[in-house]
Amino acid sequence: MKEIFNVAVIGAGVVGCAIARELSKYNLKTIVLERGSDVCSGASKANSGVVHAGFNNAVNSLKARFCVQGNEIFENLCRELSVPYKRIGKLVIAQNDEDIKELENLLETGLKNGVKGLSIVDRKTVKMMEPGVEGVAALYSPNSAITSPYLLTIAYAENAAMNGVKFKFNSEVTGIDKRNGYFKIYHGGDYTRAELVVNAAGCQADRIASMIGYTEYKIYPCRGEYVLVDKRWSHLLTRMIYHVPPKDKSVLGVHITPTVEGPILLGPTADFIDDRDDTSTTMPGINQIIEEARKILPELPSHDSITAFAGIRAKNKSKEEGGLGDYVIENRKDSYFINLIGIESPGLTASTPIAKHVTEMISEVLKLSVREDFNPIRPAPIRLAELSHEQRAELIRKEPLYGEIVCRCEHVSKKEVLDAYNNILGVKTLSGLKYRARVMMGRCQGGFCTAKIISILQNDLKTPYKEITLKSPGSYLFTGRVREEEEDDAKRD
Ligand SMILES: Cc1cc2nc3c(=O)[nH]c(=O)nc-3n(C[C@H](O)[C@H](O)[C@H](O)COP(=O)(O)OP(=O)(O)OC[C@H]3O[C@@H](n4cnc5c(N)ncnc54)[C@H](O)[C@@H]3O)c2cc1C
Repeated sequence: MKEIFNVAVIGAGVVGCAIARELSKYNLKTIVLERGSDVCSGASKANSGVVHAGFNNAVNSLKARFCVQGNEIFENLCRELSVPYKRIGKLVIAQNDEDIKELENLLETGLKNGVKGLSIVDRKTVKMMEPGVEGVAALYSPNSAITSPYLLTIAYAENAAMNGVKFKFNSEVTGIDKRNGYFKIYHGGDYTRAELVVNAAGCQADRIASMIGYTEYKIYPCRGEYVLVDKRWSHLLTRMIYHVPPKDKSVLGVHITPTVEGPILLGPTADFIDDRDDTSTTMPGINQIIEEARKILPELPSHDSITAFAGIRAKNKSKEEGGLGDYVIENRKDSYFINLIGIESPGLTASTPIAKHVTEMISEVLKLSVREDFNPIRPAPIRLAELSHEQRAELIRKEPLYGEIVCRCEHVSKKEVLDAYNNILGVKTLSGLKYRARVMMGRCQGGFCTAKIISILQNDLKTPYKEITLKSPGSYLFTGRVREEEEDDAKRD
């Protein structure tokens, strides 16, 4: 007989992984089922990475409550999980008198939500803070911060796994039954049994809910495209720069965000689309982003982006309804089935408060006892690029593989690639290495390092070429063995 888990979480995005970590503090058997081959296969890997302060969310909404709570705990959370965090602050820029009225509205909302440190600053102060930025006034939010959304999701999941949570990838949930007091969840020719289900499937959450008869939910996917500008322009600003939100207020509009890794992120656009998985980028989208960003930071180059990507917002209100709803988190009639619907921005910021809220809901139907041996610390991976010359020399003396540079753009060594390969979640894809070790993420986007990584996989780790995939089963890169440089040299000789 298959074991019965106490809780099955569907979806390993930042919310599902935060819930898994929170549940790992209790004596529970928890499993996370994810359709992708890694955590962070949905919105959680493609967003602005902003730790919002909470002045954009309607007063008394769950969004506002969880955002303000999330902002307060974020720095400590990132310290526990060894995730980058920078409290760089944000300026919302007014271009005219009408915009200034909007700044006052945002200030008022922020104060009602309990956001600390907000103030409206004049043109002179804006120029002093950000000399390249054009605007007549700004709302200054010193507690807005940036993080790495994918490193946070990975860290939540790794810490949950360290504390006993199981993760099952490539497991798309296709049906759910409830029999004899437990759920049978079908995925990829297999099934999992659990007493309670948490539906954290992001853009697919309404479809998961309908599998068990909750047909009242509806997700309206809304795509946001981004452009990433090379880090040699990062001197252009030190804080996040936002326009005042567009009139409909269902999104925050195109903004300019320094990233924790260095490059500047521009975007996102907002387009309601039919296909929930359509993360394509478009020429009109890219042009719109660059044009809007250059209105507030004219020195931004129009031609130096290193990549473009898109994420999909899981909205629970349609464009016609104004596109802006609150989070819906409910356990209908003590059904042991908790649905999280419409977890759009600020879902990254709010991930731990949402997880605590869900855990409280679980405690109303399952008996939770605290684990004495829960370890909240996820050790920091070694990153050569962040060390001084002296520290690097010392490290290389102890382990020469730190001296073999694989990725020249981001200064990643062979040892870091091997460490990333040995991750506790068992993810072995190229994309998994990319998000963990930062290979293939720099200016050349893998142009130089991909071949070296393949060589490590084939020769050091003895991975047959058929098992080398980009991200999902079947996403092969090769139809045969790749020749080695030495083989080529031998032939030439
Ligand atoms: C453009 C954009 C910008 C944003 N900017 C910010 C920001 O700056 N700050 C902030 O706080 N928030 C931001 N957000 C919001 C934030 O990214 C989301 O709220 C958050 O990532 C949602 O996490 P999630 O785990 O609910 O969803 P997801 O990350 O989408 O995870 C859902 C998971 O469920 C899996 N899944 C789906 N169907 C199935 C199935 N049938 N079986 C198994 N698994 C399944 C998916 O593969 C996916 O991994 C932004 C969002 C977008 C789109």
